[in-house]
Amino acid sequence: MTSQPFTVLDLPEAQLANLSRLGYLTMTPIQAAALPLAMAGRDLIAQAKTGSGKTAVFALAILHQLDMTDRSVQALVLCPTRELSLQVSAEMRRLARFQQNIKVTTVYGGQPIHLQKQSLKHGTHIVVGTPGRVKDHLERGSLVLDRVRAVVLDEADRMLEMGFVADMESILSVTPRRRQTLLFSATFPDHIQSLSTRFQRDPERVQVEDQHSLVTIQQRFYHCGVGEKLQALSLILSHYQPASAVVFCSRKQTTREVGYALAAQGVHVAVLHGDLGQREREEVLACFQHQSLSVLVATDVAARGLDIKELPAVIHYDLPPDPSLYIHRIGRTGRAGCTGISIALCTEQDVHKVSQIHAVQQTDLPTVPVETLASRGRFTGEPPWITFCIAGGRKEKHRPGEILGVLTRDGIVGGSDVGRIDVMDLASFVAVRKPAAAAAGKQLKRGRIKGRPLRVRQLP
Ligand code: ADP
Ligand code: MG
Repeated sequence: MTSQPFTVLDLPEAQLANLSRLGYLTMTPIQAAALPLAMAGRDLIAQAKTGSGKTAVFALAILHQLDMTDRSVQALVLCPTRELSLQVSAEMRRLARFQQNIKVTTVYGGQPIHLQKQSLKHGTHIVVGTPGRVKDHLERGSLVLDRVRAVVLDEADRMLEMGFVADMESILSVTPRRRQTLLFSATFPDHIQSLSTRFQRDPERVQVEDQHSLVTIQQRFYHCGVGEKLQALSLILSHYQPASAVVFCSRKQTTREVGYALAAQGVHVAVLHGDLGQREREEVLACFQHQSLSVLVATDVAARGLDIKELPAVIHYDLPPDPSLYIHRIGRTGRAGCTGISIALCTEQDVHKVSQIHAVQQTDLPTVPVETLASRGRFTGEPPWITFCIAGGRKEKHRPGEILGVLTRDGIVGGSDVGRIDVMDLASFVAVRKPAAAAAGKQLKRGRIKGRPLRVRQLP
């Protein structure tokens, strides 16, 4: 599954900017699955492991539906512990920064109740707290929930384990019947189902089982002289030895220069810029996706629409003119639970760009001289696969299964030697493990699809 940006949601511009400042570049799987439903007002049972980003699901949905002209409590979030209540309110407040004056109040046991009463009296939009203390406030009349439109049961399984079921029931009974109820749980035991049956209306169940953890992107900034960028790039590749990398340049002339220089060093590299014809572009992209090329040197425009899973490194040979473009570039690495690294080359002319990049992300990372990196031998990025290009694609109705069949028909090439098969508009591409390349080439050249012989080339 590819990660989607938050921009696919119907969120105000200010919220999208806020999310990108928080470093939320793409939605986590549970967010992608649950947010559209939650924002549309549906009841949800959402199940996903800890750290999958469930808080933002209900926070964004609640904030989206908030009526700023109404000073009464519009949303209630119940959490099992004081620590979780504090964490959830903190995340809520960060996500609420896109707009002024959204009030979030936290109520939990252990803090003097009169302090919480004060803050509730001043009017608040969202209350986050533990069931025991929320019930206390209801009984004292310091909390009124009759205008609540959304109730969240966060970590519902833990609240049940902790014996909060009676408190939860009495709290829910004083909220309007027509409300949205969002239930979050890491596990789904039977008593969660009965809780849902009692308190939810036609809930949609959303479950993300994969062991996705959040994307982590490390960022590095290296200083070098204006005329020393090529050497700096070689040093960076030698030091980090990435399995594959996209090197971004601002001009197509630069992509050519960098491409030549790396090729001369034995790197398996290709360039991608706007002057390539569709055929060349398809070939380059297929090879890079198949890992039969390890470095792609590209302009931002040419790299648009490039969707590479698990891209380990993004290198900014030139920093982009605009920090949002930088964020966009680094969003291509570290996807779907992998770690990615972003490495920027910065000259003295880039000082302003670097500070803008830190300003939008609220980061403050040092720019260190590139010479501080230790060289770890020549980088060639020896790719594990090679790609065969077969003439004819979608128009000829080639199908991946047929190509696989041709390759493996005599058992000389095993199924595990064959990687991705992409049928594109003009041509089809198949990845084969290097040791099996010669045998695979013979099979393809002797093979037929729909009775016709194949025209095959080995790339790159
Ligand atoms: P859960 O409730 O599923 O255990 P949290 O909502 O507490 O997970 O999120 C875990 C961490 O991930 C938090 O630090 C949160 O700020 C961060 N986070 C949430 N969504 C994203 C996102 N889309 N991109 C990056 N970080 C995120
Ligand atoms: Mg949580």
